[in-house]
Amino acid sequence: TPKIGFIGLGRMGRPMASNLQRNGFATLSYDVNPQGIAALVALGGRAAGSIAEVARESDIVFTMLPAHPEVRAVVLDGIVPHARPGTLVVDMSTIDPLATDEVAAAVEAAGLGFVDAPVGRLATHADRGECLFMVGASPENFERVKPMLEAMGTTIHHCGPAGAGIRMKVVNNYLAIAACQLNAETLTLAARFGLDVERTIDILNGTTANNGHLKTNFPVKVLAGDIEPGFQIDLAHKDLGLALTSASSMKVPLAMGAAARECLQLARSRGFGGKDFSALLDAWCDLAGVEAPRLPSKT
Ligand code: NAD
Repeated sequence: TPKIGFIGLGRMGRPMASNLQRNGFATLSYDVNPQGIAALVALGGRAAGSIAEVARESDIVFTMLPAHPEVRAVVLDGIVPHARPGTLVVDMSTIDPLATDEVAAAVEAAGLGFVDAPVGRLATHADRGECLFMVGASPENFERVKPMLEAMGTTIHHCGPAGAGIRMKVVNNYLAIAACQLNAETLTLAARFGLDVERTIDILNGTTANNGHLKTNFPVKVLAGDIEPGFQIDLAHKDLGLALTSASSMKVPLAMGAAARECLQLARSRGFGGKDFSALLDAWCDLAGVEAPRLPSKT
């Protein structure tokens, strides 16, 4: 089996690397924050002292980092100078597609392989090994990385060559995040009308208003009183920015998303940036002067 390196053990990286380790892929991991590494070591993984060490010792290196400045720094300054020829770099972060293109070109110029495999679905899916991957890779690199993706997820889409995965992810998150804001506004209005939230969700889920936030996200997060991330509003704001920047350079108007990005900015300005994106509901109820609705506790 190939030697696996994993860099970035945050809310997503930690459970994903843990699932690799549990499924028989020995991991050597690194994060600037030692907390994440400790979780892997507890499962029998090895801790690296530096990115260079991960690069030198791995056949395949996965990165799960916040945004393109971190991916650029880790891959271009840390992995490329130290990796052996033929090493495969697999970036699973959500970043600017143009940064993916730049990183992919530098990696390939150094005689290494590059795959973008950003992740759909939520952190709770990552915990259960139920990630969805949108993969950009050559057919050979796709086959090489597939067994590891299968250890972390249940659904793997090969979207095209390197760069196609991240573009699909930007498209996916555009809709998922703009829709999150729309759900927050909708439930704020329902609360202001005095409607029961459980009944409201039940009805919306039975009409064309239905969507994933109402089915699987809000009921287990904000409506259950849990606004710890999950997926941070700060990261969701970043992702809408990725769609808007790409679209702008291609002269594609994204009107709803532009409005939604400023709504998320407003939530960030009021201290919600580090909270789960479903907490847009709490931010909106706050603004509207309505008590934020909660589902009755099941216990
Ligand atoms: P996070 O902030 O919890 O984790 C990022 C980790 O990277 C942290 O542990 C941080 O210490 C580490 N890190 C930062 N700079 C580093 C460096 N230079 N070297 C080593 N480690 C470094 O974020 P997350 O929620 O795990 O998200 C990671 C990526 O996945 C983001 O691009 C996000 O948009 C995307 N994503 C998140 C979710 C979600 O639901 N949370 C879902 C799909 C995709």
